[in-house]
Amino acid sequence: MANSTKLSKIQDAMFQEIQDHQLFTSAQSYAFQYLNEVFDRNVYPTEEALNKLTHFEEEMPNTSGNVQEILDSLHYYGSPATLPTLGGRYFGFVTGSSIPATLAAKSLSDFWDQNSAMEVLSPISAKLETVVENWLCELLGLPQHTVAGFVSGSSMAIYCGLAAARWRLFQKNGWDVNEQGMNGAPKVRVVTGKHTHSTVLKAIQLLGFGKANIEWVEVDKQGRMVLESMPELDGNTLIILQAGNVNSGSFDPIEAICQKAQEVGAWVHIDGAFGLWAAAAERFQYLTKGMELAQSWSADGHKTLNTPYDCGIILCQDKEALVSALHMSGAYIVEGKRDGMYYTPEMSRRSRVIELWATLKYLGKSGVDELVSNLNERAVQFAQGLGDQGFEVLNEVVFNQVLIACGEDEMTEKVLKNLQELRVCWCGGSMWHGRKVIRISVCSWATTPEDVDLCVASFVKARALAKESELAEV
Ligand SMILES: *Cc1c(COP(=O)(O)O)cnc(C)c1O
Repeated sequence: MANSTKLSKIQDAMFQEIQDHQLFTSAQSYAFQYLNEVFDRNVYPTEEALNKLTHFEEEMPNTSGNVQEILDSLHYYGSPATLPTLGGRYFGFVTGSSIPATLAAKSLSDFWDQNSAMEVLSPISAKLETVVENWLCELLGLPQHTVAGFVSGSSMAIYCGLAAARWRLFQKNGWDVNEQGMNGAPKVRVVTGKHTHSTVLKAIQLLGFGKANIEWVEVDKQGRMVLESMPELDGNTLIILQAGNVNSGSFDPIEAICQKAQEVGAWVHIDGAFGLWAAAAERFQYLTKGMELAQSWSADGHKTLNTPYDCGIILCQDKEALVSALHMSGAYIVEGKRDGMYYTPEMSRRSRVIELWATLKYLGKSGVDELVSNLNERAVQFAQGLGDQGFEVLNEVVFNQVLIACGEDEMTEKVLKNLQELRVCWCGGSMWHGRKVIRISVCSWATTPEDVDLCVASFVKARALAKESELAEV
């Protein structure tokens, strides 16, 4: 490389680093060490590992650092303080693992460091975005003219779907929201269930709809919107449904509501962060039946599908509305056949579609079906195992979520705390119809029947410890 010309010191060092590969070999060997341990590791960092994070508390360095030291810091202090969500015994929030093929594709494409804003910036990204868009329509049974935008997660995907809805509903009333904004705009109604995800509320607040304007729909014991409690819909209404309640995993009555909405020309968005993939598995398609009648859908790759973070998808069958809501222009922009930035809020974006493509290519239709079915089977095993041990299962396990209680709230809380401290598995807590619950979300390809048995045993131990401490208190 350019050794004959005069380079700055740091430029010279960086060329050296590129040439001799040492730092990349080192990173790779640390990564492999991590892979070897992560499936059997404690499922939450130890106190010691957490305390050692103070290693990173230092002033911003004045001069350039040593590259090996940087990697060593990450390996010795960073890696023990990670959550081993790649493994099979992490059940917190709704957190996917990553399948090996997609981790490998990500490692390779990290070196490409592509910007998927425009086709002219990355032909490979534009091509894969087009291919994956078509695959997703087929896999999920959506109309062929549906377009996709590849964003960071469901929060952003929901935002995009609602932005498209906003553009269209105003446009039907002769109002250009891009030009005229929200001041003095015609009234648009927003209808959603009382269990709608908080990221839906965030999108509503970001888009200026105002949370106080929401017309709330009652939900049943499983968290599903109750049809009889739906207000009368009209053509100025935006309805947000849920495919996969973040606690119980239940699905709103999608078909019935979509049909009502279609009759009057209302816009339906479906938040299917983890549940939309039910449409790709034969045994679970009944849950999303009729969803193709909606206008927009949002989903995550990084939950059920087990792509790496961050991978969210907005799907919209009204291309004009989505692109109009997210469009931008500039004298320097070169338009191509597919410019990702017209389908997303961002201009520059890493090319996350590569991992999504690798995942779908590796799994194929049958693999996605198998993955989804396995998550459900492990969730059912969990519910049965814990039920047999005298824990209360509070939801119908229709998908991958299980809600557990252990008598009074206080006991449930103690069991959860002990369970987390035992570090055999990690579950979070939540509230369900006024009760404290332990929430299990089975979302990793790596969860085996043995893992679930180990975890059930850890629940039993956590409860025994809680009862012991209760006795000691008396
Ligand atoms: C996780 C989740 C979201 C938010 O998704 P992110 O990818 O974390 O932005 C929205 N809705 C539901 C139902 C979810 O489970």
